[in-house]
Amino acid sequence: MLRSGRGLYRGAVTHLPLRLTIDSDALASNWRWLAERSGGAACGAAVKADGYGLGAAQVVRCLTDAGCRDFFVATWAEAEAVLPHLGEGALSVLHGVAEEDMGAALASPARPVLNSPAQVRRWKEAAPGRECDVMIDTGIGRLGLSPDEVRDGVLDGLKIDILMSHLASADEDREMNQRQRALFLELTPRVPARRLSLANSAGICLGSDYAFNLTRPGLALYGGIPRREAAGHIRQVVRVEAQVVQRKAIPAGATVGYNATFTASEPTELAILNIGYADGYLRGFSGTGRAKVDETFLPVLGRVSMDLTAISVDAAPSLREGDWVELDYDLPTASTQSGLSQYELLTGLGARFGRKWR
Ligand SMILES: *Cc1c(COP(=O)(O)O)cnc(C)c1O
Repeated sequence: MLRSGRGLYRGAVTHLPLRLTIDSDALASNWRWLAERSGGAACGAAVKADGYGLGAAQVVRCLTDAGCRDFFVATWAEAEAVLPHLGEGALSVLHGVAEEDMGAALASPARPVLNSPAQVRRWKEAAPGRECDVMIDTGIGRLGLSPDEVRDGVLDGLKIDILMSHLASADEDREMNQRQRALFLELTPRVPARRLSLANSAGICLGSDYAFNLTRPGLALYGGIPRREAAGHIRQVVRVEAQVVQRKAIPAGATVGYNATFTASEPTELAILNIGYADGYLRGFSGTGRAKVDETFLPVLGRVSMDLTAISVDAAPSLREGDWVELDYDLPTASTQSGLSQYELLTGLGARFGRKWR
């Protein structure tokens, strides 16, 4: 039996035509680097969106072994999927509690991250005295209580473990980072909480001033490089491989793919790979992506289509139908090639991959 990352069981005879290889050593090593960069602060892990597409259950198990104890998901459905793998760690649910979440939330050991006065009221009424986390909006303009709501005492009476805020532009050198940190420092003495937390992956790179008691990296765990400080320390975690369905020669003047966006200027050897935008290899890679065989890069020719992508294989004369080919999925490079963010490159990876941990 093979077990896919989505928890489906398939007969061993079913051939999964695409491979995602996930390097648990690299994942653990990235967490250790982020933990070290967090100075004296504990280092958690954002595992929302199924561990950024890798498989949250395996990510949680791997990082628990590495020493991580604080995990973050977006929803209660994600919490339910992660909890059996958690061990002694703690789980926070970033979207907090809507009315229809209360049943699940009260039955769960996970903590809601309360984001609005209505969520705070709901929690105080249904679970008085029970521990929660809280998000303050110090400028991102997304989830969280406003500074005025905090000053007005909306949070009074809550039992708070993590009091957090989220940086809007930590991946850039902007004054906004200092402003958000200063506002966080101004507001937090007003709110009794066990731990303070501000930094995501990029925030950890900004230095120990941003670490407080707990950091919350996501992207960099999975091989993303949020800022230059992480380059050379963060290792690639995910490798994407596809198979050659057909190899063919086309003459000068022939075109490749939908809308004939590539025209061969000379006789060209093509390999047609079984990967496309339905797998998350989006059309941004059209004419810009590349595959890698040994140390040779093979450019994508023409449009990426739903289930197929053509590459030039003039430089790989021995590549045959049925061979596996690695796509260049080094996240910063692939982000430049495709115009997609490193986050989108991870979370878009589709359901047709056999996810293989090693
Ligand atoms: C997603 C998320 C993180 C992790 O951010 P990265 O940029 O992936 O490191 C941390 N905190 C919150 C509140 C988040 O939503």
